[in-house]
Amino acid sequence: MEMFRQRDEEIKTVFLDYLKVYFAERDLTKTMKMLSKTTTGYGTGFGEKSYDIENTLSLFVRDIRNVPNPIHYTINKLHIQSPIDNVGIVCCELDLETDVLNHKMVLKNIRFSSVWIKYDDNWLLENMHLSFPTEIHGEDECYPIKEIEEQNIVLQRLLEERTHELKAALQKISTLAITDKLTQIYNRLKIEESLSNEIERARRYNSIFSIILIDIDHFKRVNDEHGHIVGDKVLVEFAKILSNRIRKTDICGRWGGEEFILICPHTNLEEAFNIAKDLQKTIIQYNFFSVGKITASFGISTFSHDDTSDSLIKRADDALYQAKNGGRNRIVLQDS
Ligand code: GH3
Ligand code: MG
Ligand code: MG
Repeated sequence: MEMFRQRDEEIKTVFLDYLKVYFAERDLTKTMKMLSKTTTGYGTGFGEKSYDIENTLSLFVRDIRNVPNPIHYTINKLHIQSPIDNVGIVCCELDLETDVLNHKMVLKNIRFSSVWIKYDDNWLLENMHLSFPTEIHGEDECYPIKEIEEQNIVLQRLLEERTHELKAALQKISTLAITDKLTQIYNRLKIEESLSNEIERARRYNSIFSIILIDIDHFKRVNDEHGHIVGDKVLVEFAKILSNRIRKTDICGRWGGEEFILICPHTNLEEAFNIAKDLQKTIIQYNFFSVGKITASFGISTFSHDDTSDSLIKRADDALYQAKNGGRNRIVLQDS
């Protein structure tokens, strides 16, 4: 008789410990340590029945992931039997309370029976059965609410995952749409848009800005002498130089082929000239992959009140043309 009581106490301790880690702590690792290699059973949720350990484990994972918040429990009745020395049967009635989607959820008189088997020195959960009573158990809640809420949680999660995926995809597409594939700086589409924005801003606030067109000199020779792949690498390096040297507020993009453009807000002609000089110096000093030295020509224009994108670009392009005609590796300002 004494032995029996001691064993009941042992089983009770294990069972209470199980309630704590599973319901209150929602600790998956600790819970798993209390399962045998063959745990089976029924839960109260959607599809919660298991005849093998893999399924059991996945149900525990799902359950704790779906409702990670602590589930407060009150034990109304607890009855322990131990028919033989390595088997315990625990019959228990619980009230459960938790927050689901910010709603307090109360489940009264949940029936929980479990079978425990002692392996070596450890009592492990062999089988469990959770079920609802047939009567109404919250003030306004009846049995199906639990299932609907569980399905809600799953749907909510799916929706969140989808939304997250869609947002990431949209972000990626938006970036791709405005990025030059080879050089990874802005493409012409983005530059045209930025240029329109800058013109609008300059008109509205009566501010100034300048643009710098940059064309690599004799780039055809680079391709002819070193091949297209080396040519591509030079373009990538060139774009890096530009994006590294410019100020935070400047916008840098690939205008096409071996031609690049800078949009420099709040910058007059003289300041733009200095930016171009600085770039010219950096380019001259740089050793390009397998090619060595290259140079570039610069054409600069500055916004005036009645400019459109086209007229502004045209003045920079004309200046660039003069830079080429004048012998290349030089900076020419728009005719004023
Ligand atoms: P200039 O000094 O007058 O600008 O001479 P250039 O040879 O640089 O100019 P041209 O317009 O005659 O040739 C430009 C060359 O740039 C021709 C074209 O094959 C090359 N090119 C354009 N885009 C790319 C590219 O994406 N990769 C490579 N490797 N070459 C390109
Ligand atoms: Mg060129
Ligand atoms: Mg060109």
